[in-house]
Amino acid sequence: MTSTALPTTDDLRTRARTALDHIGVGVAEGGDFSARTPLTGENLFGLTAATDADTEDTIAASRAAFLTWRATPAPRRGELVRRLGELLREHKSDLADLVTIEAGKIRSEALGEVQEMIDICDFAVGLSRQLYGRTIASERPGHRLAETWHPLGVVGVISAFNFPAAVWSWNTAVALVCGDTVIWKPSELTPLISLACDHLLAQAADEVGAPRDVHRLLLGDRAAGAKLVDDPRVALVSATGSTRMGREVGPRVAARFGRSLLELGGNNAAIVAPSADLDLAIQGIVFAAAGTAGQRCTTLRRLIVHRDIADTLVERLTTAYGKLPIGDPFEDTTLVGPLISAAALDTMNSALTRVQAQGGKILAGGNRRLAEAAPAAAYVEPVLVRVDAQTDVVREETFAPILYVLTYDTLEEAIALHNDVPQGLSSSIFTRDQREAEIFLSAAGSDCGIANVNIGTSGAEIGGAFGGEKDTGGGRESGSDAWKAYMRSATNTINYSSELSLAQGVSFL
Ligand code: NAD
Repeated sequence: MTSTALPTTDDLRTRARTALDHIGVGVAEGGDFSARTPLTGENLFGLTAATDADTEDTIAASRAAFLTWRATPAPRRGELVRRLGELLREHKSDLADLVTIEAGKIRSEALGEVQEMIDICDFAVGLSRQLYGRTIASERPGHRLAETWHPLGVVGVISAFNFPAAVWSWNTAVALVCGDTVIWKPSELTPLISLACDHLLAQAADEVGAPRDVHRLLLGDRAAGAKLVDDPRVALVSATGSTRMGREVGPRVAARFGRSLLELGGNNAAIVAPSADLDLAIQGIVFAAAGTAGQRCTTLRRLIVHRDIADTLVERLTTAYGKLPIGDPFEDTTLVGPLISAAALDTMNSALTRVQAQGGKILAGGNRRLAEAAPAAAYVEPVLVRVDAQTDVVREETFAPILYVLTYDTLEEAIALHNDVPQGLSSSIFTRDQREAEIFLSAAGSDCGIANVNIGTSGAEIGGAFGGEKDTGGGRESGSDAWKAYMRSATNTINYSSELSLAQGVSFL
């Protein structure tokens, strides 16, 4: 199914301007840094990117603000984030419009992205009263050992196009209550939503009396990101994007002994066991594989199905894929919006050509849609491909809706196939056999940062720490104790006796 009508670029420009007006952002046009929309593939506004001098000013201002912010009590820092959360609630619909216009997400997922921002603000406000350190038993009489947590410094947040605002909020809400200041270099593909978020945070800062420079926005391409990567005044670089990007960023930050938090590509798989509830599994699989047009880091890319149920499952999936409504993401009935760019469609087609040369068979999808209505946009049917082996193209992350289906005979074989990729982000098993589920979650099971049972690979909640292993970069952000990456700890030994006793029984003088 395809909705044949698409909004025009003029419609989208008006809608974006209306959302920005409601939020209070004035867009200075006329620059050569384009805001564009994947709905038509055309440019919306010409913005202005930060110059080198702007970047220098931004880093200096952020560092100066840190010196004040770190001394502000954490619960008071939480008041800034509480106000931000209120403003996000107030502007939820307008922010979701911008997410759809710039990233192409369907309405419900765009609203979900803003909800995730609101949720992390709530979490961070609570966290602002829970930055706990431990007291440790000392081996010496009259001594106390303690662990204290201090703000780290300037945090550089580099984010990807596909979660253009939520990833920023995961980092920023937590970093701010931890006493850090933030400089955000958003994806060059999504500047408008970043202008909106930055504006709301500035408003919140004004209202609660926080320094304006606790948050600064740096519009630009990867060269602007590289400035943050190389600057020793940026204590932590939290970078979300492709593994290619992480390979450049990680070593450069390490070379100056900075800290990095890397959230990189995934190649996520689900195992479907013979006992699986297939109705539930199919819903979970289709959302995880075709939702967001396959453009989530947690998108399901490999399905490892027990041989006994493979034909039935594949037949049912083929039917479900044939019914997916593709088109205007603002339409309530649409489930699959556009790919981010024509280049993304080329990459998808090249992966499909390669996998077919390696013996893969396309079972459903793969045709371009709406090419006449929007020649510069990239609407495409999600694809189901049956493969006999995990060839090199299957082991890569292609950031598009391609689901490779493999079969297995034993759970051991399924887990080996599952883990035999360079990436380690998200994973799941569909089974009603508790033993199988527990093996999958055990040390000998999935090697990913996220391992689920009877639910797909995508759609995490903010309460848990988010991130993955191996080529996914090893970072953890959002909930649980991910906050510790945004602070530095100090171990304190306090002697309240009148003796100077040395540890390990050492005597001296
Ligand atoms: P990308 O790597 O092209 O760009 C991401 C960001 O990094 C952009 O802001 C870009 O300007 C910047 N950048 C690129 N090279 C850089 C460099 N050398 N130095 C500094 N900055 C640099 O990624 P994308 O196409 O925007 O996003 C899709 C990718 O992101 C996928 O691989 C996806 O899996 C991944 N992703 C991962 C997560 C996660 O949490 N693990 C979340 C979202 C997206």
